[in-house]
This record gives sequence, structure tokens and C-alpha cells, in this order.
Amino acid sequence: MSLLVVGSVAFDAIETPFGKTDKIIGGAASYISLTASYFTKKSKLVAVVGEDFPNEFIQKLQDKGVDTEGLQIKKGEKSFFWSGKYHTDMNTRDTLVTELNVLGTFDPIIPDSYQDCEYLMLGNLSPAVQQTVLNRLQKRPKLVVMDTMNFWMEVALDELKQTLKMVDVLSINDEEARQLSGEYSLVKAAEKIQAMGPKYLIIKKGENGALLFYQKEVFFAPALPLEDVFDPTGAGDTFAGGFIGYLAKTNDISFENMKNAIIYGSAMASFCVEKFGTERLNDLTDEDLNQRVNRFKNLIKFNLAAL
Ligand code: AMP
Repeated sequence: MSLLVVGSVAFDAIETPFGKTDKIIGGAASYISLTASYFTKKSKLVAVVGEDFPNEFIQKLQDKGVDTEGLQIKKGEKSFFWSGKYHTDMNTRDTLVTELNVLGTFDPIIPDSYQDCEYLMLGNLSPAVQQTVLNRLQKRPKLVVMDTMNFWMEVALDELKQTLKMVDVLSINDEEARQLSGEYSLVKAAEKIQAMGPKYLIIKKGENGALLFYQKEVFFAPALPLEDVFDPTGAGDTFAGGFIGYLAKTNDISFENMKNAIIYGSAMASFCVEKFGTERLNDLTDEDLNQRVNRFKNLIKFNLAAL
């Protein structure tokens, strides 16, 4: 099934306890599109970059089957730039710089050939732009998944709340769930956030895994314990790309299948953190992915003996 991905395509500069990068390729939609390409060859991108953005990365997306007709390149303008520094525990980070540049005036134009998409991933972006995308689709997709972050809760809470009413699944981290709901308990937070619109809520907890809430049910997937976590940037987006990519591939949006999608998303995220930026997502094989998913299976498999 076809998948439409909207989000930032950007430059990032990252500092972790293991090293530091100058401007490298980043952005929510870069991670999502690369990841989803391992599941579906029918993904389409809507995003904006400046003239400074390297054509090689656009070519790489195209080589992976991503349709980039909806990627606008703004002459004489600069791409979105984000810079972050991780703390020693790698679970928390400080944003050092957010330069919206082309994102500040982004008008998401949806090419006609994208109108039939069945799955929509609204990656991290201004909630007003996310809403515009939904309004410009002639037919509502079968499933709409949205990601957002604390930045938008601080600068555009009203628009964020309006957009939340229009989506099926929200994916955020634990800190953001607490900020959005005003509740410390994630169970209470989930209840409040579900009342804001999304029927399904994914709360990502970094190295502590992810929770999927639906009505009164909850599913938990651990994160794979890894020897080295090099750079967690984009792990959440990679997770989202694996989640929606798997759902688009299987075209089954039942809660049971979402559990599988969470495991595939977690497996993809476990690759992402092994190298800086998008590097590790370039050349994975089906064999790599199957082995990783099996490690997840083994991690949580046990035979419960009767008392
Ligand atoms: P994650 O680590 O999954 O939260 O995603 C990090 C990515 O989000 C980076 O590649 C950034 O370029 C991108 N990003 C950071 N802040 C924003 C923002 N305000 N809007 C859109 N994308 C952002």
C-alpha cells in the first residue's frame, strides 16, 4: 500500500559522548523515508529543503524507491538546521540550535499522484503544516500516524491540539507525554492524550522500550540491549518509519498487527543508534532485519512454568 511521508529534511550537528559531527543529513522525514523503504517501495515524500541541500541524498532516496516529486527545493534559501548534545546517559539531550529556515514558510504542496495514499506519516513538523497536509488530501488515508516534539508543545500548543483531533496514532516520548498531559504517570497521561483525539498512543522510552496504548489495553516492547549506542538521533523517527512501513506493507491496522509493527520499528531503531546520523540505515539487508527481529523474539520469549 502506498505511504505518504511528511516531515523535516535537514542538516543536523550532533554531539554525543563518543564524538561530534559537523552538518550531516538529518530530519525526521529523512529517517522515516529511508527506514520505510525497507518495507514498501511505494513511499512518497513531501518536504522542503534549501539550495544548500546535497543532491546525492535526494538521489539516494530515489534509488531506494522513494518518490521525491513532493520535495521542494527553495532557490537561495537554507535548509532546516538542528543541533543537539547528548548527556552521558544518552537518553536525554539538549537542543542547542533550531534554525527553521525553509521550514518557517513551508507550504506543503501535495502532487496529484500522491492523492491516493492509504497510509500517512506526519513526521515531526509544525502542527499547522501537518494539518494543512490532512486538509489537502481529497480522501482521508486509512491510517494517519503523527509524531511531534516538546518544541511544538512550547510554540504551537493550540494548533497541536487541533491536529491531534485528526489523527489515529500519536507517537511521542515519555517526557513529551508528561508535558502534553500534565500527568507524571504514563497510564494517566495516555488516558488524557487519547481523549485529545488519537485512538492509539505510542510512548517511546528510549533504551527502556516503547508502550502502545489502545483503549484499556497496553502492549510493551523492550529496546534491544546494545553494546554500544553511538548516536540516538533519529531513533524515534526510524521507529516510526518501521512502524508505518510494516503496516503499509501488511495492510492490516488491527491492534494485534500493530504489536508486530512496534517490534519492527524497534528493530529498525536499534540499527539507527549504532552509527551517527542516517549512516546505518543505508545498506541493511533482509537478512540483517530478520536476524534483529529474531533477537527481539528471543529477548521476550519464555515458558512460564505453572506454580
Ligand atoms: P528524534 O531523535 O527521533 O527525536 O529526531 C531527531 C530529528 O528531528 C533530527 O534529525 C532533527 O533534524 C529533527 N528535528 C529536530 N527538531 C525539529 C523540529 N522542531 N521540527 C522538525 N524536525 C526537527
